[in-house]
Amino acid sequence: MANKAPINKIISFSNVDGPGNRTSIFFQGCGFNCLFCHNPETINLCLNCGICMEKCPAGAISRDEEGRIVWDKDQCVSCDTCIQVCPHSSSPKIRWMTTDDVMQEIHRSAPYITGITCSGGECTIWYEFMLELFKKVKEINKGCLIDSNGSFDFEQDPRILEYCDGVMLDVKAANPEWHRTLTGADRDMVMKNLRYLLAANKLYEVRTLIFPDRDRENEETVKYVSEIIQDRCFYKIIRYRPFGVREENKKLLGEWTTDEKYAEQYAQLARDLGASKAYVV
Ligand code: SF4
Ligand code: SF4
Repeated sequence: MANKAPINKIISFSNVDGPGNRTSIFFQGCGFNCLFCHNPETINLCLNCGICMEKCPAGAISRDEEGRIVWDKDQCVSCDTCIQVCPHSSSPKIRWMTTDDVMQEIHRSAPYITGITCSGGECTIWYEFMLELFKKVKEINKGCLIDSNGSFDFEQDPRILEYCDGVMLDVKAANPEWHRTLTGADRDMVMKNLRYLLAANKLYEVRTLIFPDRDRENEETVKYVSEIIQDRCFYKIIRYRPFGVREENKKLLGEWTTDEKYAEQYAQLARDLGASKAYVV
């Protein structure tokens, strides 16, 4: 049977998911549960509870013979009611696709793109699928990037690095407790990947979110990353933005966007420590 994965969304042309113009593929499912997640509906696979089916105003959600939730793209009016009512950080609006299905969409944008970026959710959960997809993308001479939370052990299974041009790695916190608070997960694998991917020359970029008024946590993470990466990859210092964050989490993290000058002082710290390709977005 063909290898399939749940695809939440494919953006044909993106200029924020790596260099150049890229087709971005967002997978459903993630092992982290980040407080600041902007797309919490990508965290879990659907539990088929049916709550969204009752609320959909367009009758676009139904069940198949085995009781699984099915989304009808043509009926959908994109009101997002289903996402708002889902109590399980999921979405019915996914498509189980083969790599050939995804390639069909990539072929349409191929003349205009530099490459593809696999994102999520957490795309490495669907490792075998992504490996098969990257092999096909390389056959048409396009680049392949991975946007990852760093939870997959690349050293244990490095097969995909042969086809992947680079990983954009989130390092959310250096402090183990702060990492657990922010993501619900341990940080050790992320740090292992930071070093491993750098040594393998497959680290395209590291990203760290800067939270308002979190001086100690922000500084600890930026120092940790900068001292390791130096000038060997980009370091994207990202201002926390509350848009899309779950209401209860905004109370913990802040209801306002991190001030640009405040974030810039961490980019400067990174550059002072040798991470010369640090910049704020
Ligand atoms: S976005 Fe969700 S609730 Fe709205 S029409 Fe589409 S499937 Fe139905
Ligand atoms: S998307 Fe959410 S609300 Fe809808 S059936 Fe799945 S788990 Fe239930």
